[in-house]
Amino acid sequence: MKNSSQWSSRQLAAEVLRTAAQGPYGAAGVYGRSVAGRALHWFSLGRGRRRLLLTAALHANEWITAPLLMKFAHELASGVWPGVLDEVKVWFTPLANPDGTDLVTGALSSGPLWENAKRIAAQYPDIPFPDGWKANIGGVDLNLQFPAGWEEAKRIKFAQGWTGPAPRDYVGRAPLCAPESRALYRLTKRIAPDMVLALHTQGEVIYWKYLDIEPPGARVCGEAMAAASGYALEDTPYASGHAGFKDWFILEYDKPGYTIECGLGENPLPISEFDEIYPAVRALLARVVLGC
Ligand SMILES: [Zn+2]
Repeated sequence: MKNSSQWSSRQLAAEVLRTAAQGPYGAAGVYGRSVAGRALHWFSLGRGRRRLLLTAALHANEWITAPLLMKFAHELASGVWPGVLDEVKVWFTPLANPDGTDLVTGALSSGPLWENAKRIAAQYPDIPFPDGWKANIGGVDLNLQFPAGWEEAKRIKFAQGWTGPAPRDYVGRAPLCAPESRALYRLTKRIAPDMVLALHTQGEVIYWKYLDIEPPGARVCGEAMAAASGYALEDTPYASGHAGFKDWFILEYDKPGYTIECGLGENPLPISEFDEIYPAVRALLARVVLGC
């Protein structure tokens, strides 16, 4: 993929610290370590009572969501929406899968972990390497790791042939066995946000339900995000409807949690499409931050 190696987890870390320092009431820290030992960064902006958690790039070849979220954070920190940070506190985990992202962008292209990933990928010749890689560097799909119907996710994915480490769709040995998912789970428990949004690509769709659970306000806010962005509000397809981050959040808290499928095309969406994708994502996130 062209130009993607200009973007890496190392670059993101610097950007996080700059953004948190720039924003009013900004704070930043590390909420865990990836398989390769990379820091998992969080930062927050604002001091309001309403608490949001916005996460991105849990899937490696959907890494464009990280710079999309960072651009929004920059705008929020620089006061584009005056006064809003007195009303809300927004937590960001912009790069939930740093190793996988570095694999797909080319920032990680040698060494034992890369070789292991290449060996895993060789068992799936129909999936391009590294462009088809969604998982963490160990071959676990981080959005099939959460304790919400994990056994059912396992049953479905095993029946589809995803029975071991793979570029995508492997649920792992147990819920939260991948350090990146476990860290996000623990951070979320610590924050206890009122709402979570997880940015993925692609499809221009907002998924808002887990099973038939409909948390108070979830439909109204989903409709507001859909109206702001032009994205479609849809029920999650059953085969991918378990063990995701938003599924667990909805089940655990009975509060709104969303998966946002940004942009249209084939993953990884090229960074050249950033400017085309951003306006809808910006409108959607602004709707949530301003209160829907
Ligand atoms: Zn995804």
